[in-house]
Amino acid sequence: MPKPPLAQHNKIFIGLAVGIVLGLVANALFSDYPELDWLLRNVISPLGQVFLRIIFMAVIPLIFSALALGVAELGDIRQLGRIGGKTLAFTLVLTSISVLIGMTLVNVVKPGEGLTDSQRQALMSTISTSGAQATVQKAAEAKSVVQTLLEIIPKNPLADAVGAFDENYRGGGILAIMFFSLFVGLALTLARSERTEVFEKWLQGLYDVVMKIISMAMKLAPYGVACLVFTVTARLGLDMVAMLGKFVLVVMGGLLIHLLIVYSAVLKYAVGVSPWKFFKRLEEVIITAFSTSSSNVTLPTALRVTEEKLHVPGRISRFVLTLGSTANQNGTALYEGVTVLFLAQFFGANLSFAQQATVVLAAVLAGIGTAGVPGGSLPVIVLVLQSVGVPGESIAVIFGVDRILDMSRTVLNVTGDITAAMWVAKSEGCELKLE
Ligand code: ASP
Repeated sequence: MPKPPLAQHNKIFIGLAVGIVLGLVANALFSDYPELDWLLRNVISPLGQVFLRIIFMAVIPLIFSALALGVAELGDIRQLGRIGGKTLAFTLVLTSISVLIGMTLVNVVKPGEGLTDSQRQALMSTISTSGAQATVQKAAEAKSVVQTLLEIIPKNPLADAVGAFDENYRGGGILAIMFFSLFVGLALTLARSERTEVFEKWLQGLYDVVMKIISMAMKLAPYGVACLVFTVTARLGLDMVAMLGKFVLVVMGGLLIHLLIVYSAVLKYAVGVSPWKFFKRLEEVIITAFSTSSSNVTLPTALRVTEEKLHVPGRISRFVLTLGSTANQNGTALYEGVTVLFLAQFFGANLSFAQQATVVLAAVLAGIGTAGVPGGSLPVIVLVLQSVGVPGESIAVIFGVDRILDMSRTVLNVTGDITAAMWVAKSEGCELKLE
């Protein structure tokens, strides 16, 4: 009898494991050889990028069609207001809990204190050699809060679509595209006619086509994931992770507590489903988020799994997940809070209660505003650091471990979006059974 083909998520998992193991071996054996660096820069990393870029190319049309359709399918403005309000409330409450978990851990464990002199020196030397200045420069060009909020309303949505993934773009980007898409959906609901019906069908067609592109790209996922993870582990090895061990443990510990305790409690008591079954069905989403470090890239997989395996109706999942991929980032908020406090400890700056409260608030808001792309947190961390009097360049201290923590926080970000979609669906009276 022929063997059944391996399920896609198992293939991706194998890619992940192969990437990690081979990367660590390459780092242990060849980290002093320039050939390894050459191979990473010219072969392995570009191969990983091929996979990422195909998905990125579909993200803007996906966000546009998913959100506009999501709103149009909700049908009336009252329902839209209710679901939007619930999504926002969920985001604010859960993000605040995640930041508080992180802040508590960092205050108890104090990972920034008690490093040996040589560790301290090794970490300090990264400040001048890393690309921290570029990040600081970018943060220095940051806009005022009023300007940032204004730019969420795009003057020219096409310009925002073009600049969305450009690090140097100063406009509203993805948030502005979301705003435009919401408005298109709203107008579609209010202007129902034979002609707009054609437009709605067109949007549905666009959505289907984009999802198909992504499912084709996902065939490359096992190889793409192996290359992306190999690049990280071969460069990083375990040295940096060991040196910043306590910091890494605090971040990972906070993420795990939020994932396994807070989300499980929401799922069990507020949604009424088994957390175990929920996480089991999320395997593919979790692996994709972990290996790509991007909530936006993981959005299509999250949409598919939420509809097919968790049976959340499309009208709710499209709306909540698409908004959440940028706005509901619990892992990012936790990380931003922990990192600022860690660096303040590292530099011996004792933050007062009021300053810590500022960090909490900034981290909660940053969780909403941070782009769902790899390293999206970094410029935001620089801004918060500077606002509490710690030099922005000090972010270089954590550069070495940022990627692995980025991979981990993205898992929490995406799982949080799906948990939100489950909760909103349940509160809207949907029957959610995970047998
Ligand atoms: N990589 C994260 C995400 O896409 C954002 C960040 O924290 O850097 O969800």
